Order: sequence, then C-alpha cells, then structure tokens
Amino acid sequence: MSDEVTEKRVGAEVTEEEAADGPTVPQQGEAGPHSGEGHGEPDKSAKRTEEEPAPTRAEISNYEIVEHWFNVAAERLELPDDVAAVFRSSYREVQVQVPVRLGDGKLHVFSGYRVQHNGARGPYKGGIRFHPEVDLDEVRALAVLMTWKTAIVNIPYGGAKGGVNVDPSKLESREVQAVARSFMDKIEKVLGPQRDIPAPDVGTNAQVMAWLMDEYGKLHGHTPACVTGKPIALEGSFGREAATGRGVVQVFRDAATEIDLDPADTTFVVQGFGNVGSWAARLMQELGAKMVGVADAKGAIASKHGIDAGKLARHVRDGRRVMDFDSGAEEIDPADLVALECDVFIPAALGGMIHSENAGRMRCRMMVEGANSPTTPRADEILNDNGVLIVPDVLANAGGVVVSYFEWAQNLQHFRWSEDEVNEKLGQIMRRAFREVAGRAREDGTPMRPAAYELGIQRVVEAASTRGYI
Ligand code: NAD
Repeated sequence: MSDEVTEKRVGAEVTEEEAADGPTVPQQGEAGPHSGEGHGEPDKSAKRTEEEPAPTRAEISNYEIVEHWFNVAAERLELPDDVAAVFRSSYREVQVQVPVRLGDGKLHVFSGYRVQHNGARGPYKGGIRFHPEVDLDEVRALAVLMTWKTAIVNIPYGGAKGGVNVDPSKLESREVQAVARSFMDKIEKVLGPQRDIPAPDVGTNAQVMAWLMDEYGKLHGHTPACVTGKPIALEGSFGREAATGRGVVQVFRDAATEIDLDPADTTFVVQGFGNVGSWAARLMQELGAKMVGVADAKGAIASKHGIDAGKLARHVRDGRRVMDFDSGAEEIDPADLVALECDVFIPAALGGMIHSENAGRMRCRMMVEGANSPTTPRADEILNDNGVLIVPDVLANAGGVVVSYFEWAQNLQHFRWSEDEVNEKLGQIMRRAFREVAGRAREDGTPMRPAAYELGIQRVVEAASTRGYI
C-alpha cells in the first residue's frame, strides 16, 4: 500500500471540555447543562479551543482517509481519470445558517451542512451529526463513505451526510429541538423520501429524528419516510436502535470462522460506548464473549475478569460516565485502551482514533470497525503487517443503514415488520455482504478493505453509466 497520506500527530479533535460532556443528546423534557456561551460564531464551523488536547487522535482528516481508499481502489479498477473525477466531488453540497435563540436570550448562529455525494443507485441516504467539530470536510468524507457502503451491502440508495456544528450535551432539550427544526427548515428543499433521507449519527437520536420529521411534515404533510431512525411510536422500525451494533456482531461471527475464533471464548475491547458500542458489546456478550476493556469520551476501564455490558449500558443510560461504573474494573489511561490484550477490538467512537502512533501497540487478532474511518491508512498498514484481520467500516457498520432501508420501505407501505423479521433480514444482508467482500479479498489476495471499496465503486460506476450519468 502506498503511504501517500502523511500523518502528523498533534492531538485531539475533541477538546477535554467537549470530551468531558460527550456527544449525548438530552431526551425530551430533560435539561442539558447549558453553558450559555461559545455556541458558534456567525456561520463558522467550530474551532479547537486552547484546552489541553487528549492524546488519542491523529491529525488526518476523515476526508483524506476516504480519498486514500478511493484512490487505491480506482487504480486497481483502472478507472479512467475523467470517471474517477466524478466521484472525487459531490453532486450537491449545501451549507446553511442555523440561527437559534438559546436559553441565555442570545441568538447563536450555527453552521449546518448536507452533502449529497452520489445518487446513481437510489435516493441519497446518510446520518445527521450534531457535534462541535462538524465541518464541510468531515461531512463530505462521511457522505462519500455512505455511497460505497450502500453499494457494498447492495441496498438501493446513494450516499449523503449532514451535520450541525453544535454540542448537544451543552444544550437543553428544547434548544436541541430548536436547532433540529431550524436546520430542517433550511435544507428541506433537497430532502424527501424519493430524494434524500437523513438518519441519526453521533449526537443525534430517535428524538431528534422525530423533530425533523415533524418539521418536514409542516411543509409537506405527514411523511414518515422522510427520515429513518425514528421512535417506534412514530413509525420507526423495530430493531433500528440496535441495528449498527447488531451488524457489527453479525460480521464478527463470520469473520471469527476465518481465524478459528470461538465467539463464546472471545475477549473484546470497545472504544466508545454510545449507540454502536453499547449494542455491539451487549450482543457480543450474548454470544458468550467477554468485554475486557471499554472507554467513552471521559475515560476508560479494564478488567481481565470481564465487564458486564448490559449493566454498563444501564449505568451510561442514566447519564453516568464509564469510568464511574462500580464493577471492580480498574481505571486505565484512555490512551492505553488500544494496548489491552484481546481477541477483538471494536472502535465505536470517532474517526482517526487508530493511527500510526498507537496501531503498533494493539494486541488484538481482529478489528471490527463500528465507527466511521477510525483507522488511518498508515495504521491499517501496520495492523495488516501484524496479521490483524480488519473488517472495514464500510462493511462492518452498515447494519444501521440496512435497517434504515427497512424502516423506509415499511413507511412507504405504512406497514410494520416484527423485530425478529427485521433482525433476520438484517443478518441475511450482512452475511451476503461479508461473503462477497471476503470472497473478493481472497480472489484478489488483498485485505477486506480494498476489496470492499472495489466492490462498492464498481456497483456505483455501473449504475451511473447505465443511467447515462457518466
Ligand atoms: P454516540 O454519540 O451514540 O456514541 C459515541 C461514543 O463515543 C460515546 O460513548 C462517546 O463518549 C464516545 N467517545 C467520543 N470521543 C471519544 C474518545 N476520544 N475516546 C473514547 N470514546 C469516545 O454515536 P454512535 O451513533 O454510537 O456512533 C459512533 C460511531 O459509529 C461514529 O463514528 C458514527 O459515525 C458511526 N456509525 C454510527 C451509526 C449509527 O447507526 N448510530 C451507523 C454507522 C456508523
């Protein structure tokens, strides 16, 4: 693999202050710790503060990571330069002003983004992130990933992503609602069930999707299929909340057979204990696997005897920190989480957290990427050289968008499937995608990541050229 993306380690993209609060969203009626200051300058993305950076992330943008893998695949596929150029830019990028009067009585102006990368295979699809570090570059990268991801799991969507540079953990619930509604008002013209369908991502949840749907409905009439990841009470799908974590575990089971790993005799570590991480951990535990280390934005704990994922999920749901979990586990330096001895490491936090300076310390046999772009290209190379089997993000965390697709299909028919049916169909799609990617990797003699990208890119190119778009 080429080393064309140079990494520089300068610290975190998440400041300590932000890390101390984490990207959780207050639930309806619940008050967040409103800081009353610093919620964005007019129409500018959030910048780093002067605070001490936590030594956990590489300075390489998610966009550089995604572009790197596209270039590797495009070269192997011998994609003509003019065709590749179409996929190096987005179909549409919208940046909007999101002015919201907060509890301090002042108008705060956030920046909102929606990037539609490619829609050759169907309506644009992708999450909406509320996080102070959201900027156009990051949203672009995440939109590109969605294009390949929906193609790899072969569901009829294109790729998009959105976000607002707001820290929801510092807002009260009604303020988060105001941000969501204001954002929807500005971008609704490019959305719709046949055009572009948002979903939750970091810092947003089912409640935020409900507000987005309601706001869209004021202009267009009741349209549940306009967003996915909604609450069950509002035509959400059974199984959506756990879907990404469930998909991670479904591909883990297939990958385990490749290295003769018995799930019941597996130890694992989870980095990021939010939606994806906590569900992946609970479902791994159902298979008999043992969680020996876990971190959130505020700290990390480890125990050779195992940490109960179900109890920890209840502890965290009550708004408490992972490191305050009273289980006999020892508190460790978050930077040492990657060095814990385990069979499987599951990154489920933010991008770029496995980088050139910590990849060599990892002592896992397999990494299943729950997060988007958690691994820099250089770290990927180090891990491959060290014999670590990597199940890449574009495959491993696709479970969420697959069940979003089910939710959308149910909404369009005003019909509902049972949770068992959803989980069964999710398993079929994830297993098929794993088989196709692993088969291609074997045939080409490459790791799974380039094989996955090649498969996805080929499908998108075929759809775009059959339509006459390219
Ligand atoms: P979330 O906001 O629910 O959880 C994020 C978790 O990461 C929290 O526990 C947070 O404390 C932790 N975290 C943040 N910074 C950290 C740090 N420096 N060290 C350790 N932990 C840290 O978000 P989520 O929805 O679970 O998403 C997690 C990742 O999975 C993101 O990369 C997201 O893009 C990706 N993803 C999510 C979905 C989905 O359906 N939610 C689907 C596909 C991919």
